[in-house]
Amino acid sequence: MRDDSPMVPTATKQKKKPTRPRPVSEAQIGAWTELVAPGSATQDHFSPLDGSLIASLPQALPADVEVAFSRARTTAEEWKATSFAHRKAIIMRFHDLVLDNQKTLLDVVQWETGKSRASAFDEVADIALTARYYATSAEAHLRPQKRQGALPFVTQARVHFHPKGVVGMITPWNYPLTLPLSDAIPALMAGNGIVLKPDAQTPFSALSALHLLYEAGLPEGLFQVVVGDGPTLGSAIINNANFVMFTGSTETGKIVAEQCGRRLIGFSAELGGKNPMIVLDDAPLERAVQGAITASFSNAGQLCMSIERMYIQDGIWDEFVPRLTAEVEKLRLRSAFDFSYDVGALISQEQLDKVQAHMDDARDHGASVLAGGRHRPDIAPFAFEPTLLTNVSDDMLLCRRETFGPVVALYRVQSDDEAIRLANDTTYGLNASVWGSKTRAESVAAQIQAGSVNVNEGFTASWASTDAPMGGFKESGVGRRHGREGIQKYTDIQTIATQSGMNVAPPPGMSAERFVSTMTRGLRLMKYLPFRK
Ligand code: NAD
Repeated sequence: MRDDSPMVPTATKQKKKPTRPRPVSEAQIGAWTELVAPGSATQDHFSPLDGSLIASLPQALPADVEVAFSRARTTAEEWKATSFAHRKAIIMRFHDLVLDNQKTLLDVVQWETGKSRASAFDEVADIALTARYYATSAEAHLRPQKRQGALPFVTQARVHFHPKGVVGMITPWNYPLTLPLSDAIPALMAGNGIVLKPDAQTPFSALSALHLLYEAGLPEGLFQVVVGDGPTLGSAIINNANFVMFTGSTETGKIVAEQCGRRLIGFSAELGGKNPMIVLDDAPLERAVQGAITASFSNAGQLCMSIERMYIQDGIWDEFVPRLTAEVEKLRLRSAFDFSYDVGALISQEQLDKVQAHMDDARDHGASVLAGGRHRPDIAPFAFEPTLLTNVSDDMLLCRRETFGPVVALYRVQSDDEAIRLANDTTYGLNASVWGSKTRAESVAAQIQAGSVNVNEGFTASWASTDAPMGGFKESGVGRRHGREGIQKYTDIQTIATQSGMNVAPPPGMSAERFVSTMTRGLRLMKYLPFRK
């Protein structure tokens, strides 16, 4: 967990002259800045690519958060009365605008994170997928649903989904476009307003997308953005929200959960992971090697679903490991606003320090480096090579803790059971990946304690299956995003049960004894009724 009040990567604390042209115009940045809720002071925000100034933004205090909630609440009252068709039209226009304006979105994501353009595109694609999915499915998930009533024929039970009001969202820096927007879209489709606190290192991606949402027709004021210190604004968000959507570390997630618990409001938390990949001895070799690379080094490993542990069976180790090592050594580590390379830089000095500390500790305790392992300031201030390690033991920091960088430990295992046992030997349970023949790999997958398990894929198959829920077992989360679970959570669920003809009580004149014996006969008969909605 990090108090993210300083907006400046440590190695670039001075305002530096940009070493590359500004990718986004002053006019665009100015338009996005106007979307930030007013604050008492302003603070400079810098690019991790060269330490150059992006812009200054107002920094909110708790009182500003209250004002933001009250504005969102006023508009949300009108918004919840709009039809699904109206909301769908806006979100579908937003979908098109995101694809049409992707160059700008890619530029701003890269500018404020240092990630590769390919990883930035994953964010654009994800927003488009989620926007289309919830625009077209929200009504089906949220229209009143008939449920089985207490007494056949005379009790009619219907479930209604009412918007919560204003959802408070707190998001991290690693996917600054997709995490705020993809969780906001179902909340909006369900009829809520939003107050978002993006990570203070990366507010501009969310602002650039919000600008497009307003262009698509979202009513003014419905989606507020506050920028500033994490713990202070986080508490203010929780104190004012009707529901909290949190994405970040497990440590902060526990603080958020405690505060939501004190107010008895619902929350959903998408937290950290130490995700395993299992390579069975009948895995398709080439696909498994390529899948391992994408799963481990997308976004330079700064991905909650990223693979940081690989359990490789003895029977395929001698083919798989040299092949993987050769491919990792070929990866192009660079920093540029184009698609000419594979892996980008880390976001900050803090992130680099953490990765370096895990590497130094692993080396000191006897780990062997198969590929990579070095900080590369010649490429970008926070660039770090994609790294493979073996001989990793339990006394090393990276064995169990989330590194959140491009460092993966490889372990040799003898059997399916050993792979499953080691994969599950963690406090986390976010994502996993299993490679092998279909039936065998699916059987192993069902025994892994993780919210999503990808068979013959790293993470994209489950992530992009937007109709299926995603989330964590154990300390990796509470609640789910995607699918009907990812939109119904933004509603208060109400049952309206209507009784016709007779009450659920003895009719006038019937003794309690007679009623009990009649009911008992009825209950015995109901055993033979099929389940029907
Ligand atoms: P973090 O927990 O430090 O910060 C996340 C957000 O919480 C930021 O906006 C921050 O300002 C805010 N925050 C900080 N202290 C707070 C407090 N006391 N109360 C309320 N909010 C507070 O996490 P991070 O380092 O920015 O992000 C990396 C972590 O996020 C990793 O552990 C990663 O696995 C996880 N993550 C999970 C998912 C997922 O979907 N499961 C997705 C992305 C990242």
